[in-house]
Amino acid sequence: MEAIKAPRGTRDILGNESWKWAYVTDTFRNVADDYGYREVHLPIFEHTELFCRGVGETTDIVEKEMYTFTDRGGRSVTLRPEMTASMVRSYLENNMASGPQPAKLWGAGPMFRYERPQKGRYRQFVQLDVEALGAQDAFVDLEIIDLSMEFYRRLGLSNLNVVLNSVGCPKCRPVYRKALQDFLKPRYDELCDSCKSRYERNPLRILDCKSPICKEISENAPSIMEYLCDECKEHFSELRRGLDRIGANVIHDKRLVRGLDYYTKTAYEILSGDLGAQNAVCGGGRYDNLAEAIGGPHVPGVGFASGIERVMLTMEAQGCSFGREPANKVYAVAAEPSAKLETMNLVRTLRMNHISADMDYMGRSLKSQMKSAGNMASYACIIGGDELAKGVVTVKNLGDGTQEELTPEQLVNKLK
Ligand code: AMP
Repeated sequence: MEAIKAPRGTRDILGNESWKWAYVTDTFRNVADDYGYREVHLPIFEHTELFCRGVGETTDIVEKEMYTFTDRGGRSVTLRPEMTASMVRSYLENNMASGPQPAKLWGAGPMFRYERPQKGRYRQFVQLDVEALGAQDAFVDLEIIDLSMEFYRRLGLSNLNVVLNSVGCPKCRPVYRKALQDFLKPRYDELCDSCKSRYERNPLRILDCKSPICKEISENAPSIMEYLCDECKEHFSELRRGLDRIGANVIHDKRLVRGLDYYTKTAYEILSGDLGAQNAVCGGGRYDNLAEAIGGPHVPGVGFASGIERVMLTMEAQGCSFGREPANKVYAVAAEPSAKLETMNLVRTLRMNHISADMDYMGRSLKSQMKSAGNMASYACIIGGDELAKGVVTVKNLGDGTQEELTPEQLVNKLK
């Protein structure tokens, strides 16, 4: 029988790597704390309806990427493909509107999308997600963008481009949409198949298409900037003034879109120069009409999500530090079987004093226990007949080879 493998597009993150993940998440947690965002833990599956309405029926995610199944109670549920819709659902369900506004939330966890796996693209991946709900102010958009940039700064990342645009609102976007369709119409037949179907349903997404011919066709398309209503224009200018004030280096990309009715005003992405095709480390923006789309009242919101795998790939490419790999300080060695009980007790004493320690459980010889110590720890603490009689431990510094006899108490004080 063939051994069972993990599903395509998933990965095991093992001990040689997981400490790096912890470093990135801890860094994110610290940044979120400094900006006043509180962590929430939301379900990994939700009613399918939440994503159909909260992400949008015409998106790739809802059309072809969701892991949807019927549970034993006959309800259609979906493994979350993103967190924003859940965040807004949670805001409404827990009546966060009655608390301080904006509600500032962050969360981390796995997302699921049935996409073709490639470098930086998985079917299960981890997002770090930040959302500010309840405020219209352009400086909240600024705070969100600033928070994401500060996160990457603390990780030591460089070679990142922040690209920004406005996608307007339901007042001004339909006019732009029409102008864009009129512009594309004469060359409709040349568009790729996806863009042909986008033409009616979601024409702004054509600006985003990676196919060379679609790129060429839309190159001189009218810019949404010329169609923004006064409110959207002012919001964008205010955000840009704020970004200038903090010295943020941001590129205005008029082709960047979200292309869904409830995404409004700000759209942005942060792109890594060290990744290939899947080069977005972060995507975000404002979605003032999402709460209504999922059946709630009007709640403006803005946020971003960053994929941890792409952040780590970029860090690795740039040789960034991940802090220190956890290692045992002590490996306790029983020089003879009669010393095993005291060796065990020494290990326990060290652990209770926050000194990481381990010992042999495989009945190995003294020589091979010393070898394990050399591989795994900074100190070997040896207990044999002599040590048992004197109530001490022989402590060998595996770095410089020096050796001394200490009582367990002295050892704890030395290593603490
Ligand atoms: P999105 O929700 O599509 O705007 O994605 C936000 C961020 O999540 C992207 O910028 C990526 O960093 C990450 N991401 C999205 N899809 C994937 C995927 N399939 N695999 C790995 N990371 C992803």
